[in-house]
Amino acid sequence: MICALLLYGGKVIAEAKTLPRGYVAIEEGRIVSLGEDWTGVEAHQKIDVSRYIVTPGFIDMHTHGIFEVNFVEDNLESMLRGIKHYFTFGVTRVVASTISRPLEKTVEQIKRLRRVKEESEYCALLHGVHLEGPWLAPRCQGGHSLEYLRLPTEEDVTFVLEEVGDMITSVTFAPELPKAVWLTEALAQRGILPIIGHTEASYEEAERVILAGARHVTHMYDGILGYRENPDEALVMLPGVETAVLYYDTVSVELIGCPIHVPKPFFQFIHKVKPMDKKVLVTDSLSGAGMGEGTVLRYKDGRRVRVIEGVVRMIDEDPTIDGNLTGSAVTMNIALQRLREYTGISLEEALRWATLNPAKVLGIDHETGSIAIGKRADIAVIDDSFDVQYTFLPGEMVFRK
Ligand SMILES: [Zn+2]
Ligand SMILES: [Zn+2]
Repeated sequence: MICALLLYGGKVIAEAKTLPRGYVAIEEGRIVSLGEDWTGVEAHQKIDVSRYIVTPGFIDMHTHGIFEVNFVEDNLESMLRGIKHYFTFGVTRVVASTISRPLEKTVEQIKRLRRVKEESEYCALLHGVHLEGPWLAPRCQGGHSLEYLRLPTEEDVTFVLEEVGDMITSVTFAPELPKAVWLTEALAQRGILPIIGHTEASYEEAERVILAGARHVTHMYDGILGYRENPDEALVMLPGVETAVLYYDTVSVELIGCPIHVPKPFFQFIHKVKPMDKKVLVTDSLSGAGMGEGTVLRYKDGRRVRVIEGVVRMIDEDPTIDGNLTGSAVTMNIALQRLREYTGISLEEALRWATLNPAKVLGIDHETGSIAIGKRADIAVIDDSFDVQYTFLPGEMVFRK
């Protein structure tokens, strides 16, 4: 057999089992053969990956940007130039996240992202858009400006879906808002993933949208108030959104790979209580992610931020604003390293949080997310510390250390 590319000698994390010293053969962007004996396999290009681990490329279903790329507000040229930075960190698929802004501006930006998908030589990297807001609970605003939060109306939802519905793969909203059930059904009917997030919903409110088709939770334990105190009975807790999303096995949960956003015990807890394929690792990264400690960035609205220990914090003369957390600067490979450290789970299981699991949640596991014959050769080659050596998309080398 002659193929285009052969990766041989490394530890291959195949979907069915781990091959301690295996190979992956690639032809026309697809995995055509894998196993432990590559003696009969001829290839136009052979790469010895003996010291490394061959894993499916990472899928980040919640990221606002990386390095100098900012999906929220960048122009087309910057995004076309910058999205390749994801490859440095082993990422082969992203869902670009918006934040709450005037709806017309969000729609304009999603049209720009559509052009990135159409025009980029790396178009396969961009799966679609995650609409985060504006239909969020004000008390759980997080990094979203209060002035842009709104209630879902048929007029707004129809406007967004008609203009850019083809690009939207997921929408985060608060289940307690009026018309949330209608919104959930409208999204689910179109094949868009309805996501619970930025919410202080009661158990019943959360349950209603789960029954209507909500299947995922945005950055659990961040911008989510899980319980309420019973106003009529002192110190009696009422079940809230946390109980509902943990109770229903149909709902997957994402955690930001950052101990400041998600304290360490939550990683062990979610690992224990959620089914194997319902746990997802994300970065929720902003531009600045992957840049050096102390990097200062200026957003278009004039705000300045600094990268400090894996998070992005405000710089401001006002001491009540200075130092405030605005987002994460973690990258997928570092998030994975932390997940293993915090939970002690196996390499294979940790990788699933960033590969096959998000692929299943997004409904793209038939074509990517694992190393199996017939799937796209979206592959990262890493060392034991999750330091990325090569990235392939699909089957083309797009990064080499
Ligand atoms: Zn958020
Ligand atoms: Zn976000």
